Amino acid sequence: MAVVLSLLARATPLPVPGLRAWVGGAWLVFVALLLLGLRDWIPPIASITLGNGALVLAYIVWLAGSAWHFGQRIDFRFWLAIWAVVLAVVTWFAYGAPSFRARVVIVAGLCAYIGIYHAYFLLRHPRATSRFGKSIGITLTTSWLGLLAAVYGLRALHASILPQGNSGLLTQDAIQIIYTSCFTICNLMLVIGFATMASDYVRALIEERSIRDPLTGAFNRLALRESLEREHSHSLRSQQKFCVVMVDVDHFKKINDEHGHLVGDRVLVHLCERMQTLVRSRDVVARFGGEEFVIVMLDTSLPEALQAARRILSEATHLGDTSLPSFTISLGLAEWSVEDGSIDALVSRADAALYAAKVKGRNRLEIAENPVPSGPPPVALTPT
Ligand code: GH3
Ligand code: MG
Ligand code: MG
Repeated sequence: MAVVLSLLARATPLPVPGLRAWVGGAWLVFVALLLLGLRDWIPPIASITLGNGALVLAYIVWLAGSAWHFGQRIDFRFWLAIWAVVLAVVTWFAYGAPSFRARVVIVAGLCAYIGIYHAYFLLRHPRATSRFGKSIGITLTTSWLGLLAAVYGLRALHASILPQGNSGLLTQDAIQIIYTSCFTICNLMLVIGFATMASDYVRALIEERSIRDPLTGAFNRLALRESLEREHSHSLRSQQKFCVVMVDVDHFKKINDEHGHLVGDRVLVHLCERMQTLVRSRDVVARFGGEEFVIVMLDTSLPEALQAARRILSEATHLGDTSLPSFTISLGLAEWSVEDGSIDALVSRADAALYAAKVKGRNRLEIAENPVPSGPPPVALTPT
C-alpha cells in the first residue's frame, strides 16, 4: 500500500497538501512491521526500540499530513518529545526490566490516543464539513482511525488487566493473531482512506477551477449559464422573481492603453471583489467576458434589485487605498418575466439596457424594457 500511495502521489496532476506525509507514514508502518517481524533475527534494540519507534512515528507523521492537508501544522516538538519518552521507556522495558506486557500497554495506549486525536481532528475541522464534507475520504479515514484506535485501546486494556503469559508479538495464539490481523487491515484501509482524501481534494479543486474565471475568481460563463437555468426553471415553477444585472467598465480600453494591461487586470479584480461584497453571498457574480460581468440576484424583485444595482454603480468603483486609476461602470438591469422564453432573452434585455446606458453617456444604470409577450398573434375578429 505504501508503494501504491507513492505511485499515486507521483501521478497526481496537482500538489495535494499533506500527501507526502501520508506516503512517508505508510513507509514507516512498513519499516515498523518489518523490524517487529524480524524479532528473532535482529538485535532487540533494532526490533523493539526502532520497530515501535517507527510505528508510533508513522501515526504522528500521518497526523501531521492531515493537519497539512487542511493548512495547519501540528506541534512537532510536543509530539517528538512524547515519542522520545515512549521510546526510552520501551527500551527500558526491553533491557532494564524486560516486560512484553508493559511495552504493549505503553505503545498500544499511545497509538490509541494518537488515533482518536487524529479522527477527532478530521471530524472537528470546519473544512471537513464544507467543501470537503462531500468527500468519502474523510469518512473512510475517520472510521478506520476510530477502529484502529479501538483495537489499540483494547490491546492496551487487555495487556494491562490480564497477564500475557509467554505471549509475544509473533506468538501464534489466537488472541495475538486476531490483534495482528486487525492492525494490518486497519493500516491498509487507512492508506486507502488517505488516497481517497487526496483524490477528493484533486477532484474538488478541478471542479472549482472549471467553474471559476482564473483572473478574477468570479464564476465563469459555464457556471453563469447553470445558475441562470436553475433560477429560470425555479421561477417558472414558483413565479418568484429574480434579476440580472449586466456590468461593463467604461472606456476600459483607454485604461489598458494608458496604464498597461496588468493595471487593467487589477482593475477587473478590484471591481469584482467590490461587487462580491455589495451583493448577498447567495447572488452569483460571473465574468461574462472581457470587462463585462453579469450578476444574478436570486429571489429578488425589481425594486430590491434596483437598490442593489444603484449601490454597485456608486460604490463598486471606490478605489480605497489602492494605486489604481479611477474608473466608472455602466449597468443594465432586467427582471425575469414569464414572457422571457429563455434565459438568453433575459440576458439580451439586460444587454440592451446596458447598451442604452452607454448611449446615454455611461456611468449610469438603465432598466430593461418589459419583454414583448410571445404567443400566437391576435386573431382578427372582423373580416377585412
Ligand atoms: P465602453 O465604455 O464602450 O465599454 O468602451 P471600452 O473601451 O470599455 O470597450 P471596448 O470593447 O472597446 O474595449 C474593451 C477592452 O477590454 C478591450 C480588451 O483589450 C480589454 N480586455 C478584455 N479582456 C481583458 C482582460 O482580461 N484584461 C485586460 N487588461 N483587458 C481586457
Ligand atoms: Mg467597456
Ligand atoms: Mg465591453
